[in-house]
Amino acid sequence: MNPGPKREIRVRFAPSPTGPLHLGNARAALFNWLFARHEGGKFLVRIEDTDKERSKKEFEKDILEGLVWLGLEPDEEPIRQSERLEIYAESLQKLLNEKKAYWCFCTPEELEAERQNQLSQGFAPKYGGRCRHLPPDEADARIKKSGKAVIRIRMPEKKVSFNDLVKGKIEFDMALVGDVIIAKSLREPLYNFAASVDDVLTNISHVIRGEDHISNTPKQIVIQEALGLEGPQFAHLPLILGTGRQKLSKRRLETSLNDYKKEGYLAEAMLNFLALLGWHPREDREVINRQDLVKEFTLERVQKGGAVFNEEKLNWLNAHYIKTAKTEELMEKLKPFVPKTWLAKKKVLQNIIETEKERIKNLKGFKDMAAFFFGLPDYDAKLLIWKETPKERILANLKSVHDITKNSASPEPEILALAEKEGRGEVLWPLRAALSGQDASPGPIEILKVLGKTESLKRIGKAIKKLG
Ligand code: GLU
Repeated sequence: MNPGPKREIRVRFAPSPTGPLHLGNARAALFNWLFARHEGGKFLVRIEDTDKERSKKEFEKDILEGLVWLGLEPDEEPIRQSERLEIYAESLQKLLNEKKAYWCFCTPEELEAERQNQLSQGFAPKYGGRCRHLPPDEADARIKKSGKAVIRIRMPEKKVSFNDLVKGKIEFDMALVGDVIIAKSLREPLYNFAASVDDVLTNISHVIRGEDHISNTPKQIVIQEALGLEGPQFAHLPLILGTGRQKLSKRRLETSLNDYKKEGYLAEAMLNFLALLGWHPREDREVINRQDLVKEFTLERVQKGGAVFNEEKLNWLNAHYIKTAKTEELMEKLKPFVPKTWLAKKKVLQNIIETEKERIKNLKGFKDMAAFFFGLPDYDAKLLIWKETPKERILANLKSVHDITKNSASPEPEILALAEKEGRGEVLWPLRAALSGQDASPGPIEILKVLGKTESLKRIGKAIKKLG
């Protein structure tokens, strides 16, 4: 059998700008992007903004900025459905002319009564088809008169099946679905119709999207068949679940990606985390960078069952990417999170980052961790005491450290030697507390290096005074 020419790989991310870019969407965007990159195909973005009331420009902006932040930029200019109404109107008219679709004049009250009637008899509700046989002239006349009608597709009473590239063969009995509404008027197509038309007209080869769209797929296949167009293949991504496998809380699922950014998550960590929401690489490793993701991503490795959202994993990945980032890079990323005055002291800031890198959990937390370098916080003299050590010994040790720091060109080895002799805790704890004014910080030698001689002596002197 001749397999025919290989189809160009083209995928799309098709968000509705009715809210900010959230995790579920971002994951769909990422999987599409990875698939396109892995296959050497194209990644496109289509803004599904036909719902005039709920679509907002600010959400469109948020979505596109989120994609830029994650580094998932489309290969072609994004298209907007609101700018393609003429195209949908033409396709709708074609279906009407060919009697594959028809105008329906049933009022909401009539439809509701029909529904209740079906339910009370134990049937699953579906449109009974009252307007199905209206002669076209009559329909046209009524449209001209009232203008109030919707367009329904004449649903074939057959089974529609497709081979989902993640879930396998899926079949729907369209007889149970009935003649669904595909447009509220010629220029008001509904999601299923507009998406079906666009997917074929923009040559989409694969539709990769959340599992919540599975029941839309047979409708879209029927619409594409009715238009006489060849449709794409489908792959549905598993639901995102909360830990404990319950539905992920709405709050979490709908947290915008931008909020994660504001909280100080790195795009690299987010990308890695999102990739593992329903997919995993061969050796099951947790840390995998963008390049390797592209190299290894295939739909075969997308799991069928729900993907668990594990916040601890996200936090761990974030700390990991911070720890392993180059200091220069981290400095760039920290810019929006620290006071301007800190940025003016580039060298100092660089040293601080280097010292704190291991301990930074997120970019936002850095400011609190590093503030003591720029100004000693007020602290209680008790903080200087190591365990049960008598105050006098602590005082004596701090004085020795003060002398060493004052007189030695490189005090570090001498301080360490003193610590070996007098006890590490007894020397290093009070020194650390004196330099940081906090009960947790990097080690004293590291802080000393960052602060420099003058400032360190000042702080040790202050501690001596506090104890004296
Ligand atoms: N606008 C739809 C959504 O955001 C698109 C679904 C699809 O990819 O077809 O859920």
